Amino acid sequence: MTDALLNIQHLDVAADQLRHRRDHLQARAALEQALADQRAQQDRIDEVALSRVDVANRQRRLENEAQLVSDRADADEAKLYSGEVKGLKDLEALQHEIATLRDRQRGFEDETLEAMEEAEVLAARIAELEAARQSADEQVSVLRAEIEALEAEIDDELTQVAADRLSKVGEVDGALLAEYERLRPAFGAATAVMFDGSRCVGCPSTMPAMEVDRLKHLDGTDPASCSECGRIVLR
Ligand SMILES: [Zn+2]
Repeated sequence: MTDALLNIQHLDVAADQLRHRRDHLQARAALEQALADQRAQQDRIDEVALSRVDVANRQRRLENEAQLVSDRADADEAKLYSGEVKGLKDLEALQHEIATLRDRQRGFEDETLEAMEEAEVLAARIAELEAARQSADEQVSVLRAEIEALEAEIDDELTQVAADRLSKVGEVDGALLAEYERLRPAFGAATAVMFDGSRCVGCPSTMPAMEVDRLKHLDGTDPASCSECGRIVLR
């Protein structure tokens, strides 16, 4: 009878420890960190990608400007060579306008090149960040698989413990088991304790002599309740 309840308690403690281990897997904390890294990497990528869109828009705008100015200069040049403008002053004004337009065109083209170079730098930066994020992705996958394997391993052990408990629970007196289960939330691993002949092992301080005497002189070896701490005392 004494051993049977202790066996059950032993299995319950083992199950508690397994559940605690399952809830506090180190790999889970590592996964939280890896997920945070992954999010941070993605935020950085999104940020640079936004700048890249801005630069691409600027590039397109500059290309349009360059085209518009170039078209106007082409039209002026056509006019210049068509011979329709005759006066010297008008010709000079037209040539001046063409030169001004070509200058502006070059300015827009230079700025377009700058924007393209900037876009290249940003694209390289994104590729770099994506590689870093990929390594964070891999770490997340590895940790998820690791956690899954550990959980499966612990679940197997829990199933085994539950089966053991089921096979042994019949050996414990029903009323005693009910009492044990009622007290277990409060006393946990030390719900049923041994009386070593002079004291209840569960009591934090020395047991009063009167209580020792009472336990000593109880008939038989049936479990008793410690009047000091309330635990089940096995003798
Ligand atoms: Zn006690």
